[in-house]
Amino acid sequence: MRKIVEIAGINIDDLSMEEAVEKIYEFIESDKNHAVYTPNAEIMMDGITNKEMKAILNNADMLVADGAGVVLASKILGKEVAEKVSGVDLVKNLLTASSKRPVKFFLFGGKPGIPEKANANIVCDYPGAEIAGTRNGYFSKEDEEAIINEINSSGADVLLVCLGAPKQELWITENRDRLKVKASLGVGGTMDILAGNVKLAPDFFRNHGLEWLYRLYKEPKRFKRMLRLPKFIFYVIGIRLGFVKH
Ligand code: UDP
Repeated sequence: MRKIVEIAGINIDDLSMEEAVEKIYEFIESDKNHAVYTPNAEIMMDGITNKEMKAILNNADMLVADGAGVVLASKILGKEVAEKVSGVDLVKNLLTASSKRPVKFFLFGGKPGIPEKANANIVCDYPGAEIAGTRNGYFSKEDEEAIINEINSSGADVLLVCLGAPKQELWITENRDRLKVKASLGVGGTMDILAGNVKLAPDFFRNHGLEWLYRLYKEPKRFKRMLRLPKFIFYVIGIRLGFVKH
């Protein structure tokens, strides 16, 4: 049974990092593919304003709170989730766990050369982690069949899909039943971080819920997109105060 916290009509799993990792091991033991998404405030706002996105998120098998904004929203609504479970930290914890409890990963997404670079770093940083295959995230519709065959024949258990949001969530939803992996994780910029191409925000920013500020400083062109963060918080305050019906 899932322990759910409903935020603006979107069902977020109330899980600690450790529980989230365990849940993925449960998926690996099962006989079907599971969709796992890690919405931040931007994706939550997409879900609120776009019915199709809301349905995609609510059809996931696991939806964890990626980002201080989603955790804050749960607090505002008086049903606080256990902790922030960001996509990148979830993947790092799984890679670490896989040295004792083997998992085969397939790395899908990022610019050409990036998943291969991520693979090389994983081999050094996570001894025992097994990468069954890699594929960059730039492809045409005609390539999809071959990509899916490549993933399926690799024997991977866990597929990391790093195509950015909402492309990765749409791709997983569309191909969920054709994939033989046991869990497909939509984890955005994780490939760039594993490849060492993009740096995680320093601990101060991560520990104080200010990762968005660091990201804005690094990528000012994201400003417009990031306005969805305050919009999301105001929306949730509106729900709490009874001004917003959803
Ligand atoms: N990406 C990809 N294929 C695409 C578009 C993007 O593989 O068609 C990759 C991109 O190279 C980057 C990742 O998706 O590594 C995340 O992109 P972005 O930072 O825009 O996504 P977000 O952080 O919003 O999830």
